[in-house]
Amino acid sequence: MEFSSKLLENAVQEMSHLPGIGKRTALRLVLHLLKQPQERTELLTEALMKLKSEVNFCKSCHNISDTELCEICANPKRDESLVCVVEDIRDVMAIENTSQYKGLYHVLGGKISPMEGVGPQDLNIASLIQKVKEGTVKELIFALSSTMEGDTTNFYIYRQLEGLEVVTSAIARGISVGDELEFADEVTLGRSIVNRVPFESSIKAN
Ligand SMILES: [Zn+2]
Repeated sequence: MEFSSKLLENAVQEMSHLPGIGKRTALRLVLHLLKQPQERTELLTEALMKLKSEVNFCKSCHNISDTELCEICANPKRDESLVCVVEDIRDVMAIENTSQYKGLYHVLGGKISPMEGVGPQDLNIASLIQKVKEGTVKELIFALSSTMEGDTTNFYIYRQLEGLEVVTSAIARGISVGDELEFADEVTLGRSIVNRVPFESSIKAN
């Protein structure tokens, strides 16, 4: 792509680092921003800068939060004996939308993926095991997407729990293999949490 301006080229270059944004889309977005009133772009950059510099993660579940403990963890009506293990905040949002789940979450921040160089130590796994050791958690529900990475991650955590007193379950798969939770419809997702199955039987089924 040939640019008539170095400024334009730089902006397109930066924009195209975003996931799913190729050079063409980046150019379209940059030209759109250029046409907008100055203050729209200022509000956007300000929101992003503020997000990046001030964002907090809940010290208990690692969900993105404006407070030390997120609203879910801080809510006394939630059942702290039940913890749903998810990949990222999009899964928390998807499950919360179903209104079928009253327990807490634990956000891993990704999945184990040797291909992408993500190991267990890169994820919030140690704090999960620690939480179980403290004894308030009675059941862990694995709700990672059922990809190979998801299965590997579930199994790794499962092995780490050996000898600890906790029930493990997996969400029932009305959702087809490989589907991401965030795209599952609310009814199906809600049902798959209510109808969860013991983790051991979910391994055999695969
Ligand atoms: Zn939290």
